[in-house]
Amino acid sequence: MSLQIYIGGKFYDKADAKISVYDHGLLYGDGVFEGIRAYNGRVFRLEQHVDRLFDSARAIHLTIPMTKAEVIAAVEKTLAINGLKDAYVRLIVTRGAGSLGLDPRKTSDPQVIIIADSIQLYPEELYEHGLKIITAGTIRNHPAALNPRIKSLNYLNNILAKIEGTNAGCLEALMLNHQGQVAECTGDNLFIVKQGVIHTPSIDSGILEGITRAAVIEIARSIGLTVVERAMDRHDIYTADECFLTGTAAEVIPCVELDGRPIGDGRPGPVTRDLRRRFHAYVRGDQSA
Ligand code: PMP
Repeated sequence: MSLQIYIGGKFYDKADAKISVYDHGLLYGDGVFEGIRAYNGRVFRLEQHVDRLFDSARAIHLTIPMTKAEVIAAVEKTLAINGLKDAYVRLIVTRGAGSLGLDPRKTSDPQVIIIADSIQLYPEELYEHGLKIITAGTIRNHPAALNPRIKSLNYLNNILAKIEGTNAGCLEALMLNHQGQVAECTGDNLFIVKQGVIHTPSIDSGILEGITRAAVIEIARSIGLTVVERAMDRHDIYTADECFLTGTAAEVIPCVELDGRPIGDGRPGPVTRDLRRRFHAYVRGDQSA
């Protein structure tokens, strides 16, 4: 049986899972989404992802035609129907089909789409030796233009920075905000470790409030580490002892170089390694970690 995709309450074979070319999700990137992960049959922090989805939708004045409980059940059902235990889930809500103009009032029928598929991971080698990144010239969206807290279907801001990264031979790229402060990477949040204290850009630095970020902050605090959320600039990263990124797909990945400068001794540090190990165990259900 081919992969079954959920669209608006029904399941379709992957090849037949289609929506209208008049959908404003396609025409304008008008919609919202989530990237979620299931480990051994358990969806990690599904409620928080669904909360963030509904907040994103609210922020763009889009009404999701389901309750949160219904969305949660639909995600679980999509995994079950596909017999997937370890998977990446893409949950999408589009504005729906309308006229060719921008006006969302001229659309109807927002589409709720759920794709559960295998996960694309960074190569294992990068977890061992760490990721090298550059600073992209493309800054993160100004919060007064398109707030980065909204996980919208319009990801061109991040894609432009990603292109800069990949052209420079890096799989991730650092994005600054309009004030020149550190925001986040194109699809991951950023942390540093300095003298045993963890620092990460605050939400008002113009970032997506990552679910992994929140879990890592919780884990770090639970083992007595101090985590400071604040405005940061590149100086903080250049002079850090350690740096790591967090995201649903990446989990916790060491970052060992920024703009050709080694961070710390240029190797994954002990705090990063410990947090990665604890996060890895935590998501897989070993709560003792
Ligand atoms: N920032 C951006 C811009 C992202 O797209 C993502 C991935 N969704 C993240 C951070 C990490 O968020 P999460 O931990 O919720 O995957």
